[in-house]
Amino acid sequence: MKKLLVTGGAGFIGSEFVRQGVRRGYEIVVVDKLTYAGDLRRIKEVEKEITFYQADITDKEFMEHIFVKEKPYAVIHWAAESHVDRSIGDAFPFLETNVRGTQILFEISKRYRIERFINISTDEVYGELKGEGNFYETSPLNPNSPYSATKASADMLGRAYFRTFGVPVITVRPSNTYGPFQYPEKLIPVAISRAMDNKPVPIYAKGENVREWLYVKDCVSGTYAMLEKGRIGEVYNIGSGQERKNIDVVRRILSILGKSESLIEFVKDRPGHDFRYSLNSEKIKNELSFEAETGFYEGLEKTVRWYVDNEWWWRRLL
Ligand code: NAD
Repeated sequence: MKKLLVTGGAGFIGSEFVRQGVRRGYEIVVVDKLTYAGDLRRIKEVEKEITFYQADITDKEFMEHIFVKEKPYAVIHWAAESHVDRSIGDAFPFLETNVRGTQILFEISKRYRIERFINISTDEVYGELKGEGNFYETSPLNPNSPYSATKASADMLGRAYFRTFGVPVITVRPSNTYGPFQYPEKLIPVAISRAMDNKPVPIYAKGENVREWLYVKDCVSGTYAMLEKGRIGEVYNIGSGQERKNIDVVRRILSILGKSESLIEFVKDRPGHDFRYSLNSEKIKNELSFEAETGFYEGLEKTVRWYVDNEWWWRRLL
């Protein structure tokens, strides 16, 4: 049974990775600091089958102790400060966790033999598209927010530790991910929870910004494809090909919930707001035979239904 060390396994996507990992027969060790965004209730159903450490990835000594004790086959590094708006308010925790924390994990991985280091980056490292086209793995990185600048740094550190020290890094750049258990500060859960309470649903500017929406199960399945079949030293985009304007996402949510569009409230735009992200995902399709399979409307329906049925999880986070 292969042992995976999963950082950020109590977060939104990391917890789905943990739940799938148990079903796939992996031995899972989770390291999570449990910041405001981490929540053990996400992995309650598998708590008896995993090992959990509450730890900060920037704590080098303790992380080294975990590596020595657990001897993982691979590291899957999801832990991060992940919310762009918070990085605009205070970028320091982003530098600390996303850059310094990631570098510490690479340093330790250099010393203790692991077979794979899956470094989770993001489509936001490419910066924005104004018009047509999409980003390839070879496109230049042009991050525009403090969040994406720290993710680009971590992404490039992965490249450097592979080239210089042979750390077996595979870099993953997923597009905007959504689904159950997403913290109610991101667009989709904010819109659902506010609309359920008949409160105004805020949208930046006129809602024209475009994102490529990836259902969380697909994001995680794609990451397993990389863990199992990906080539070391390579970068892989994971997108869904399903682009939507923010305003259309919110309209659809209101329609699923049977709420009026008069709840929409346009607010002052986010500083530096990227207009459009779009990934070319041919590489993962051609090399690893992986394609996201959840349609956007299907995934959105499932997500809305999940928030309606699981108020116990998100209400106390508001
Ligand atoms: P999240 O904010 O829901 O979860 C992050 C987790 O990391 C939390 O459980 C938190 O407690 C933990 N964490 C934070 N700092 C830590 C530290 N110093 N030490 C240990 N644990 C720490 O994030 P998410 O949305 O699940 O994103 C997971 C990863 O995927 C991140 O690296 C993010 O950049 C990347 N990503 C997210 C998206 C998206 O749309 N959500 C898209 C592309 C890439």
